Formats: sequence, structure tokens, C-alpha cells
Amino acid sequence: MTTSEQLFEKAKTLIPGGVNSPVRAFRAVGGSPLFIKSGKGPYVYDEDGRQYIELINSWGPMILGHAFEPVEKAVRDAIQYSFSFGAPTRKEVEMAELIVSMVPSIEKVRMVNSGTEATMAAIRVARGFTGRDKIIKFEGCYHGHGDSFLIAAGSGAVTMGVPDSPGVTKATAADTLTAPYNNLAAVEVLLDNNQNQVAALILEPVVGNMGCVIPEPGFLQGVRDLCNKHGVVLIFDEVMTGFRLAKGGAQERFGITPDLTTLGKIIGGGMPVGAYGGRAEIMNVVSPAGPVYQAGTLSGNPIAMSAGLAMLHHLNDHPDVYTRLDEIGEKLATGFRAGLQKAGLNYTINQIGSMFTLFMTERSVSDFADAKSCDLPLFGRYFHAMLKRGVYLAPSQFESLFVSVALTNDLIDEVIQANEEALLEVM
Ligand code: PLP
Repeated sequence: MTTSEQLFEKAKTLIPGGVNSPVRAFRAVGGSPLFIKSGKGPYVYDEDGRQYIELINSWGPMILGHAFEPVEKAVRDAIQYSFSFGAPTRKEVEMAELIVSMVPSIEKVRMVNSGTEATMAAIRVARGFTGRDKIIKFEGCYHGHGDSFLIAAGSGAVTMGVPDSPGVTKATAADTLTAPYNNLAAVEVLLDNNQNQVAALILEPVVGNMGCVIPEPGFLQGVRDLCNKHGVVLIFDEVMTGFRLAKGGAQERFGITPDLTTLGKIIGGGMPVGAYGGRAEIMNVVSPAGPVYQAGTLSGNPIAMSAGLAMLHHLNDHPDVYTRLDEIGEKLATGFRAGLQKAGLNYTINQIGSMFTLFMTERSVSDFADAKSCDLPLFGRYFHAMLKRGVYLAPSQFESLFVSVALTNDLIDEVIQANEEALLEVM
């Protein structure tokens, strides 16, 4: 038994399923998860001392690679002054100012501790602002584990085969309306049938959680127009895409302005941070400025703010990072397409910037039904064939890869070579 296997056996006796977040358990791909000990730059190292090229990067946050020095230094500097105060600090003001300057639609912002908290708060704010109860989400989009979102949810929920979780009340489920992604007509029908009842429409402007799915031309603008027409708060969940697809996120890349935006992952530099923000008129309903309650003992934690500030400042000051991330994404996609061709396979690759998925299906993938047509056992074999070659992919077909800027051209070639060999091995 490897050390990872031993740890997993013990973990299962102490932690439900042996993990603190379901997808980590490798259920979808079989086998035992790696227990990670450390990371540096483009690599992680497991408890057995093996090195892997990182294509998960903590599901997004480590966009500059592991143990990025300015972030490490910021944390070291910050801990000298203690760890938490539960009182206002200068760093929170700096963070708010930086976010407002980077994300086009955000005028006011509130810090929380995770993406889940951000999305839960955002819909509460939208409900408080509009006085309406219902929300619209898209099938296959994942917005964290808040009750309202575990309806037709992608990512871990579909990976584990529990798209609708027990424990979510019927009343909550009834307030969540769903439509297929990229389907404006379906959204229009929902809005027409629920006049003056829909508070918010939430979506991933590029989806990462059914694998990478890209909005079709006109889809985001169409959603924006429908929300305007029906007085619905448009929420872009940019927990994945924020500071990744551009420094101002997908909204900057596509030139669409949401009313509220949720953020997470990169914003904390690897620490547990989330945020939600948007139009001042809407954000002013948040307590204590207004009546909608939302709070947090550790919200705006100074160590987390320091890590996040170092990360965001670097991204803000180095726009070349985004040019390079686009280049890496394109190189990988081109190389993977060549690998598919050599293996005689006609599978689909969706890629935009540093988000990327190889779907084991010949269908083009623009919604959840397309994504679910993938050959999942084949994906499992492919995942392990890549792992054997030292490439650490997300252990699920329903995830995007998250590339970091630490990936050198030599490593990209190694990954492309591994993909070619892995595809030939598993077919
Ligand atoms: N929203 C999106 C788009 C996500 O991808 C995630 C997590 O992957 C979340 C929300 C939830 O964030 P967290 O896991 O930090 O609670």
C-alpha cells in the first residue's frame, strides 16, 4: 500500500468518504486519491514523494503556480500582527478598492469566506432588493452547496450521481427554476410563466462545472436583455472565471455587465476567501447599510486578505499573465486535438483562455445533456493513464482544467505527449 492509500483508509474511518469535499475521493474515476504534501510552481508532490504536473491548481486559485513568492511573503509579513481581529482593518479597504478597480461592474463589494457563501448571499440580496422569491439557474452550472443551487447542479453533484441532494426542502427546490445552458428560448418561457416572481438569474458566464462550456454568441447579451425586460437581477458567478479569463473576469472578456458578481478561488490567493459585489444601489440593501442580513466572524480575515491582495496586485500589474494563459490554453488544445487525431478519435475539446476540457463524446458540448453523453468509464481509464505519466487532472469528466502560468513550454509538450500516449493506451 502507498502512503496515500494508507491515509485514505484511515481517513474513511474518521471523515465521511475520507475527504472534506466529494470530488477529491476519486469516486468518478476509481482508485484511491493522492494525498498531497506540497507544491512548488507547476508541480505538486504526494505523500509518497511522487511529482505531478498540476492541471487542477486547487480548482483554480493557484493561477500563478504553487507557493508563489509574493503571496508567500505577504502571508509571512501579515502573521506578525496576529491572525484575526473580527474588526475592520486597512487591508479590507485596500481589497475592496482593488476589486472595484479590476471588475468592471462592481461598485461595492462584501468579503466572505468561500464561493458558496458568496452565491448564497447574492441571491438573498437579490431577493431582498426585488421582493421576489424565485431564482433561475442553468442545468449543469454549480454555484456551491447552498440549498437553492443543488438543483440540476454540475461538478461534484453530478460526479457523485446526486444531482438533487436529499436534505434540500421541496419548498426551496420549488423556488429554483432551471433552463438548459445556451437556451435563451427556455429562459424566456420561464420568465413569461413567472411574471414578477423571479428575483435573480444566476449563471457561470463560462461554465467550468459540467466541464468547460462556452456561451454561444449572443447568449450572454440575450440573458442580459431578458433580465432588463423582467426586472431580474443578473448574477454572474465568476468564482471560477473571475481574474482568470481576464483581470476583470468573463464580464470583461465578453463585454457584458451583470448586476451582481460572485467571486472566490483566485481572490484569496489560496486562502479561504469569497466576495460578492455589484451595483451600489443593490449592494446598499446589505446590513448594516440596509435590511438584508449577512455576516462572518472571519470575513475579511487579515491573513487571507494579504494573500489575496498579493495575488490580485500581481495580476493587475502583469497583464502579460493573461496573454500567456491564453497561449498555454491554445497550445494544449492544439496538442490534444492532434493526439485525438492520431488515436483516430473525434472527441470534443472546449477551450477558452486557461479553461479547457476534453469531452469523451463526439457531440459538440454546449449544454449539460451534451456533457452527460460522455463515455465516463473511458474518462476514468484516461485519467489514470495520465496520472501514471505524472499529469494530475481533475478526477471527473465534469470539470475544467485550470492551467497556471507556471506551466513552461517544455511541460506543455510533456502533457501533450502524455495525452497522446494515454489515449492510445485506453482505447
Ligand atoms: N461557484 C462556482 C462557479 C464554483 O465553481 C464554485 C466551486 O467550485 C463555487 C461557486 C463554490 O465555491 P466554494 O467551493 O469556494 O464554496
